[in-house]
Formats: sequence, structure tokens, C-alpha cells
Amino acid sequence: MVGGVVFFGTIYFGFALLNLLLQKGLRTLGIGRVLDPRPLRPQQVWREIGWSSLSILLFGTGMVFPWMVLKLGWSHAVMDAGIPRILLEMLALLLWNDIHFYLNHRLLHTRWMLPRFHVQHHRSHVTTPFSTYAFHPVEALLLGNVLLLPMIVHDFSWQAMLSLPLLSLLLNNIGHANYDPFPAQGGRSWLTSSRRHHLHHACSRGNFGFLLPFMDQLFHTDLPDDAADRVLQAHQSRHAA
Ligand SMILES: [Zn+2]
Ligand SMILES: [Zn+2]
Repeated sequence: MVGGVVFFGTIYFGFALLNLLLQKGLRTLGIGRVLDPRPLRPQQVWREIGWSSLSILLFGTGMVFPWMVLKLGWSHAVMDAGIPRILLEMLALLLWNDIHFYLNHRLLHTRWMLPRFHVQHHRSHVTTPFSTYAFHPVEALLLGNVLLLPMIVHDFSWQAMLSLPLLSLLLNNIGHANYDPFPAQGGRSWLTSSRRHHLHHACSRGNFGFLLPFMDQLFHTDLPDDAADRVLQAHQSRHAA
């Protein structure tokens, strides 16, 4: 459990700092654009780090559940898988992660759940890489159980299982970076998840998906690319006045 807390803490702060450095480099080179120009709220980053620390504690101690699944013999970690199997399993887990995230995120946006357990995450109208884990413990529990069901259904290689929290946090971090490195790409590309998630935070509705847009398209919850224009234009007019 201590190892789990250190693992999640290291990747949270490590990816956030790397993301900020990368963003600075891209801005210097003139590549990409900032998505939401509005200023952050006072103390926003400290609030995000506070909530995220609680999530890190929960995710870290929660490692005991997959460990128990293995100990009880409900699943086995494959130790000698070949590269094709590892890659296929990584892909399958990433797809499952998108489905799992979408379903839980929709649940969190129900009238009963939103003000109780998801409003903490949406206090960040303009996101930062530190917003990534800034959520209520109930949201952390809902999102953190992503690996349990696949583990019971199939014996995964240890590399594929380890890759899921790493890739999930990396992609989630990019999604909250408030930076679009590929402005020329269409809004439905897998490369523009940060644009889609920025619209989710700016509008507080729609675009419930994670990396890929297929779940939003399937359930008709995808937002048009200009969904936040009115909010951003209102800010610009106030700023110019
Ligand atoms: Zn949301
Ligand atoms: Zn978010």
C-alpha cells in the first residue's frame, strides 16, 4: 500500500511537471495553442493538489484490491507473455478504460451525484495538469476500480496491468493540460482529447469520454467544437471593456 501511494504520487507530480515543461517548449516553438485563456481561480492549483493527494492515498491503498484478487486466485498475472500479447492486452485495457470512464462519468453527472461527488472536479473551469486527480473520494473509488472486472474475466500480463494506470494518468494529464498541441486535427481525432475535455469543463456538460470520442458519438453526448465559444467570448468582452 505504501508502494502504491509512492507510485501514484510520483506519476501524478512527475507527469504534471513534464506536461508543463513540454507545454512551455511547444509555446516557444509556436506549436499548438492554449484552449481556455481565462485566469485560474485564486488558490486553484493548491486546491487541486489537496484533493489529488487524497485520491493518491485512495488509489495507493486501493492497490490492495487487485492484490487480493490475485491472492484469492480469482485472477493470475502472466509473467512470461510475448510482446504481441502485451500490446493487444494494453489496447484492450485502454478501450475498456474509455468505456468504464464514460459510464461512471455519466453517472457522476446525474442530478443526485453531481452536486455531491463531482462538483469538486468541476470547480476547475479552466483545467491544469494538477486537476487530473482533483476529485471527491467517491469519484476516486468509482474510477479507481477500472482494473478489477477485466482481471476477473481474463488473466493479463503484469506489463499490461501496470501500463493501465501509467497510460491512463498520462492521457488524463494531457486531457487537463488546457493546451491543444494539434489544432489542425478535427475535433473527433484521438489526438484532440484535450480539446474535448476542455469543452466538458467549460460547459459542464457533454463530452463525457476519456481519450476516444466513440462513446459520446454512440450516446449522442458529443459537443460541437464551438460549444464554449459563448463563454469564452463573454470573458473576452469583459476583459476588453
Ligand atoms: Zn464531468
Ligand atoms: Zn476533468
